Amino acid sequence: KDGRVIDISISSQAVFDDDGNFAGVEGIYRDITQRKNLERELHRMASTDTLTGMANRRVFLERAEAAFAHARTENQPLALLMLDLDHFKHINDNHGHIIGDRVLTSVAQTITRHLRASDTLARWGGEEFVILTPLRLNAAVALAEKMRQLIADRPIPPVGAISASLGVAELNMGENGEELLHRADAALYRAKATGRNRVAAAGD
Ligand code: GH3
Ligand code: MG
Ligand code: MG
Repeated sequence: KDGRVIDISISSQAVFDDDGNFAGVEGIYRDITQRKNLERELHRMASTDTLTGMANRRVFLERAEAAFAHARTENQPLALLMLDLDHFKHINDNHGHIIGDRVLTSVAQTITRHLRASDTLARWGGEEFVILTPLRLNAAVALAEKMRQLIADRPIPPVGAISASLGVAELNMGENGEELLHRADAALYRAKATGRNRVAAAGD
């Protein structure tokens, strides 16, 4: 095996002789490996965020669906973290978009390194990231606090120190994804309003 996926498409037709008797099957075999590779690449492009390489919002929502179902049937905890970089517009304005992009990739790396296989991470959009983790609220807040610290303790040249605010909510019984997102977002808003570079937990 060389890792190459061989896939052939066959189009065939019956062939008859002059007397109308069946004479055999004539076929065209075409290797569509290249097309398969292209399909795979297109799928990857549609599901990942090109800047950070992490899942995009669409894929996150798909995976969240599965995580919700699992949490419900297994009666396991599930928490959502929303992370938004502080004053990111200033970073772009002061240092330019390219440096802004570099900050985003750097933060993405910091977050990714700190997560486990059971966590679901995505770039929600702009300078916002979301994480689903099978934890109770207190443990999820501790994880968020750890992320906040890691980001604050890692200056990114030439920008220097940056920070992020996080909102955390735990999935309630009977709650849907939209409601969970809404509570995490409200908590994030409070983290911003009360000074940024902090974590806020959602109430019920
Ligand atoms: P706050 O602390 O309240 O979150 O302020 P903020 O400036 O971070 O928030 P705001 O939502 O006003 O700004 C987000 C900025 O992020 C605006 C947008 O231009 C920038 N942005 C979004 N996506 C990208 C990207 O892919 N690359 C870069 N460089 N900037 C981006
Ligand atoms: Mg934002
Ligand atoms: Mg922001």
